[in-house]
Amino acid sequence: MVKREISEDDPAEGQRVTDQLDRIWVKYTGNEPPYGLRDPSLDERRVLFEMQVVSVATSAALTRRPGAEGSQPVSRMPRVSIAGGSVGGLTTALVLRDAGCDVQVFERSSTALQARGAGIAALDTTLDYLLKRGGFQVTDVCSSTGWIRFLNRDGSVQHEQPHRYRFSSWNTIYRSLLSLLDAGRYQLGTEVTGFAEQRGTVTVTLGTGQRVECDLLVCADGVGSPARARLLPAVRPAYSGYVAWRGTVPEQDLSPGTRKVLGDALTTRCCRTAISSSTRSPPWTARSPRATA
Ligand SMILES: Cc1cc2nc3c(=O)[nH]c(=O)nc-3n(C[C@H](O)[C@H](O)[C@H](O)COP(=O)(O)OP(=O)(O)OC[C@H]3O[C@@H](n4cnc5c(N)ncnc54)[C@H](O)[C@@H]3O)c2cc1C
Repeated sequence: MVKREISEDDPAEGQRVTDQLDRIWVKYTGNEPPYGLRDPSLDERRVLFEMQVVSVATSAALTRRPGAEGSQPVSRMPRVSIAGGSVGGLTTALVLRDAGCDVQVFERSSTALQARGAGIAALDTTLDYLLKRGGFQVTDVCSSTGWIRFLNRDGSVQHEQPHRYRFSSWNTIYRSLLSLLDAGRYQLGTEVTGFAEQRGTVTVTLGTGQRVECDLLVCADGVGSPARARLLPAVRPAYSGYVAWRGTVPEQDLSPGTRKVLGDALTTRCCRTAISSSTRSPPWTARSPRATA
């Protein structure tokens, strides 16, 4: 609220008003004083309004105005819907939940997801949430190899050097993340079939026929994302120029010779038209450790 109006004419404080105008002029224009926006055709006097702060509005004190145009500040943390409950959707859900958001994950698969492929390299970013927030140790979710090895076409060693790589399996990462999310926030068998945005609110339509309102929809629906096709129709998948075949075999089934070549190493064999690599998946994804080729 305005506490006082002080004119430049004020015998006691007028000079303070003029000095303040000069300071503003210097600060915002970088020019020398005096204040340069006076109308020379007038004998102009300016007024300084002294204000008193009555209250400070924080997000908790602000409310959404019913029917107001555009998005308004809200009195609560955002409601977030996430389409897709794989590793991307789960990680997003955990981070936003920790930030205080009201999160719901909708996964179209009716059962918990299963690994389809082989091991994955466990980079720092892969493990970041599990280690820093989830209370996991590296050894809970990873196995590792101590060497990197390159083979000639005939299988002889061309080069090898100590280099520690960590590996995990998709299942281990997925199930570890899932164990950290409250069950009520993860809905299996729930496909997102549509969404529409109006006045800062997203209405998500589910395969069940239910409609859910939220402040943010995260589309973590995978490489073939229908949501991306709708939101960014110009973005199309492009063939990268190579195909990978992946498979796993229990380590105990390897011959001693193969085990010696592949053991404790990320092993790569260079052929004329192909590169084959092998790694090691953590033992707890299967009854015995697996070599990934
Ligand atoms: C089940 C599964 C197993 C995999 N196993 C391996 C593995 O073992 N090794 C490896 O290297 N890579 C694996 N991958 C490859 C995978 O692409 C990546 O490793 C990683 O999972 C990518 O994560 P993402 O969350 O971005 O997308 P994705 O993993 O592709 O997940 C997208 C999710 O969105 C769901 N979904 C899609 N549309 C909708 C919708 N409209 N409504 C609700 N849900 C929707 C899908 O069911 C899926 O669960 C696997 C992927 C999946 C889905």
